[in-house]
Amino acid sequence: MRTSTPLLITLALAASACHAGPEPAAPAREVAPRDAPGPAPKPGTEACDASTITDAADRALAGRAGAVVVLDLESGETLAEAGELVASAPPPASTLKPFLARAALRAGALDPRATVSCDGAWSRDRALTCFAEHGALTLEDALATSCNAYFYELASRVEPDALARELRDVGLPSVSDAIAAAADDPRAYVATAIGHGDASATPSQLASAYATLLRRDPELLAAIAPGLEAAVARGTAQQATVDGLAVAGKTGTASHDDDGENDAWFVGYAPAEDPKVVVVSYVHGAGSGGELAAPIAREVLTAWSSRCRERHA
Ligand SMILES: [Zn+2]
Repeated sequence: MRTSTPLLITLALAASACHAGPEPAAPAREVAPRDAPGPAPKPGTEACDASTITDAADRALAGRAGAVVVLDLESGETLAEAGELVASAPPPASTLKPFLARAALRAGALDPRATVSCDGAWSRDRALTCFAEHGALTLEDALATSCNAYFYELASRVEPDALARELRDVGLPSVSDAIAAAADDPRAYVATAIGHGDASATPSQLASAYATLLRRDPELLAAIAPGLEAAVARGTAQQATVDGLAVAGKTGTASHDDDGENDAWFVGYAPAEDPKVVVVSYVHGAGSGGELAAPIAREVLTAWSSRCRERHA
């Protein structure tokens, strides 16, 4: 059986990152290459290990320019790192908004139930527009719809130093540096605070940052999580829905002026009520995070649910 070199490298990396699973990762020579898959295994018969989740990620990416990272929250194990752009560091875009909310909560600058109004632009700087007229939004609504005006307002209430500290604390040093560099330019600062401008993060950094968000400060998470659940249930991330598994998460979309394409993200976790796994999906292409990245996470989480969920039962 011949296996392509990139796949071997991917599997070797994935296997080396996986020591805590119930079974060792299968040697690469025993795994069918993706262009010649064997018969589909019966549900529940395939092991929960790095190679099976990496295979699911490769299938979901289907050769597109992008990346998938999957983290097991209990063991800290990386279940998959797949895709040609896994080492890239594009703008995290709106996947950053939960961290802005966390910084605002810690600063005492956010009442999650209070509303901010969006009429298609930020009230304090009309040049900073939103992609819709969202009306009056609570934090939950703003995370579900990914309203920019709400989060520009939130950013303006948090000192740049405090947000930069928050982002360094969760493991996003490049975003933290970009915030510090933009601190003296109010327009650049609020744009960077919602993940644009010079903000950058790798898929692995975002996965780890969400894992940190989920592990720390249950009171802060209790204010933010309903919005991430609503994003999948009724908002921008509905294509991440998985039958029988409550998924929560956040989309992100950063457009490129040069090629007309986008950095399209989804960062999610499941089960929403008791998180066990974090999935980051990223695609460089023509479409939004909700259109391009969320469906990839759905496929990977479907595989995780059938192969890995029972070991947490
Ligand atoms: Zn809006």
